[in-house]
Amino acid sequence: MSKIEWTEKTWNPFVGCSVTSAGCKNCYAMRMAARIQKMQPGGHYDGTTKIVNDQVVWTGEIAAAPDAKWTEPLRRQKPTVYFVNSMGDMFHPNVSDEFIERAFVVMLMARQHTFQVLTKYPDRMRSFLNLWHSENFVEPYGGALFDMFHRHAKQLQASNPSLSDKIDDLLEWQLAYDNEKGVCTRGNIFPNVWLGVSIESADHLGRLDILRETVAAIRFVSFEPLLGPINDVNFTDIDWAIIGGESGKGSRPMHPDWALSLRDQCLETRTLFFFKQWGDWIAYIDRDRDDPDWRQNYADGKTFQILNLAGGRGFHGERVHQMQRVGKFHTGRLLDGQIWNERPPLISESEDA
Ligand code: SF4
Repeated sequence: MSKIEWTEKTWNPFVGCSVTSAGCKNCYAMRMAARIQKMQPGGHYDGTTKIVNDQVVWTGEIAAAPDAKWTEPLRRQKPTVYFVNSMGDMFHPNVSDEFIERAFVVMLMARQHTFQVLTKYPDRMRSFLNLWHSENFVEPYGGALFDMFHRHAKQLQASNPSLSDKIDDLLEWQLAYDNEKGVCTRGNIFPNVWLGVSIESADHLGRLDILRETVAAIRFVSFEPLLGPINDVNFTDIDWAIIGGESGKGSRPMHPDWALSLRDQCLETRTLFFFKQWGDWIAYIDRDRDDPDWRQNYADGKTFQILNLAGGRGFHGERVHQMQRVGKFHTGRLLDGQIWNERPPLISESEDA
């Protein structure tokens, strides 16, 4: 099972990525891929990372996992929440169209599960999802969409003979279900797939606008690692927000006010809110709380001195906080004295199941 708080399992039918924005700097997947590459030479992670100036970096190469990994969700009966492509990005420019299509065909057939797809490339995600839902593509009786599903299902069968009957059954059941309910022509083809974007700072809020234009059963945003204040977010048609700090080597602290502001914006717009964790850093001095007179006492600039003497790292400015690096396992999940665990209903909890 996954250690990621907002999911149950990860599913990586293919792996690999490249750094694209500031949130990727300390990418956990990149370091993990390098470790796996070292521990399992000759495996499919080979060539996905390299060392440059003593640092691990992605090469941008995308590698398919063994066939059994592709069909893993089809074999698992128990309804499960899967985070898809935790070891890369489903819509990275180097991922082939074939890989994206096949992964979605598996998700279509494994409708007992809920799949969470998170990307920093929402424009490519929008192209695929909106094409698949466009009328010309689905008419009549599934049209090009039907051909695409069938072609990939046959490939999955060819490489997994033991699953042959099961895939036939699933596909037939699926297509009958779609025709009967008219889902191909007017509903969402993937009611069990949640589509999300990852945003680390206000510079990348445009990703949310693109997500809003994407046909999706559930739209979500992950503000992790949160690297700066993000105000005035337009949460229209966004179902769920996740917030989290950074952990691991070189991790950067998250100012409590950044998290609190997003929490307040979610409460105001009734967007479901999940506070994942603080990351490695926690505030141990909140000067407005711990020393309410500080603004009078230190208005002459001694603030800087105090921050330096105390060790750790500080945020200063309108609200002074001293942050201390104590490690992810000690910082916990409390925000404003509370655990925030909201999430949309899973497919297994809805009537589409
Ligand atoms: S897009 Fe995601 S997986 Fe890829 S480098 Fe950035 S953080 Fe890592």
